[in-house]
Amino acid sequence: MSAALAEGHIASAVQADGPPAIQLDKVNKWYGTMHVLRDISLQVATGERVVVCGPSGSGKSTMIRCINRLEQHQEGRILVDGTELTDDVRSLDAIRREVGMVFQSFNLFPHLTILENCTLAPIWVRRMPKKDAEELAMEYLRRVKIPEQANKYPGQLSGGQQQRVAIARALCMKPKIMLFDEPTSALDPEMIKEVLDTMVGLAEDGMTMVVVTHEMGFAQQVADRVIFMDRGEVVEQGPPEQIFNRPSTDRLKLFLSQIL
Ligand code: ADP
Ligand code: MG
Repeated sequence: MSAALAEGHIASAVQADGPPAIQLDKVNKWYGTMHVLRDISLQVATGERVVVCGPSGSGKSTMIRCINRLEQHQEGRILVDGTELTDDVRSLDAIRREVGMVFQSFNLFPHLTILENCTLAPIWVRRMPKKDAEELAMEYLRRVKIPEQANKYPGQLSGGQQQRVAIARALCMKPKIMLFDEPTSALDPEMIKEVLDTMVGLAEDGMTMVVVTHEMGFAQQVADRVIFMDRGEVVEQGPPEQIFNRPSTDRLKLFLSQIL
C-alpha cells in the first residue's frame, strides 16, 4: 500500500478487453414524481477509477446505490460485469458478491467484534469455513493497518479506524468492483488521510473503483475520469485535470467555486 497522497497520478490500470465492469444505458429513476436520475449513460472499464462529484441532491448516491441494486431504476439498463440487473435473485446475489460498497456511515455491526464484522458475510454468504474466513479477515485488517484491533468492538475505534474496517470487510468478499459513497465526509480532518491512503492503495492494486467524493487531491491522484453530476444528469466528464482546471459549463464552474 502507498505511503500517502503523494505527488503525481498513479498509473492507470484500465483493461480494454472484455465487457465493461459497469455499464449504464439511459438510466432513469424517480422517487414518486421526483425525477432523480435523467438518462444516465456511463461505462466504467475493468481497472478504471472513476470519481463522481456534484452538489448535494444531484443523484450521486442514488446512482451508485442503483449499481448494486440497493435502489431500483425504472428505465434503462444497468449491467455489472456483463450481467444485467433484473429481479432475478440469482443474478442479484452474483452481483452483490462482486460489488463491495463503503458508505459514509460505516454501518458496522456494533455488537460484533471487528473480526466478526469481517467474517460474517464470507461465512454466511460465501460458506467459507470459519478458520479460513478469519485468516482472510486478518489479512485484510493488516492491509488496512489495524490488525491489532481485531478483537475490539466498533465503538472502541475511531471513525477513521471504523471506516478502514468497513473497507476491509468489503474486501473480504473479494469484490471485483468497489463503490464508495462519500467515505470520508463523516470523519474528522485528521482521520481523512488514513482512509484516503487505504483507498489509494486499493487503486494501486488495480481495483475497479467508483468513488463519490469531493476530495479533489484524491481525485487528482487516483481518478482516470471525473464525472460531474447536477440535478440527476451527467453534466461533464473527463480527466481530473480537465474537469478541475478547464470546466466548460457554468454549472461545473459554480460547483468548483463553492468547494475549492
Ligand atoms: P446526492 O447523493 O447527490 O446528494 P441523492 O442521490 O442522495 O443525492 O438524492 C437525489 C435526490 O433524491 C434528492 O433530491 C433526494 O432528496 C432524493 N432522495 C434520495 N433518496 C430518496 C428516497 N429514499 N426517497 C425519496 N427521495 C429521495
Ligand atoms: Mg449522497
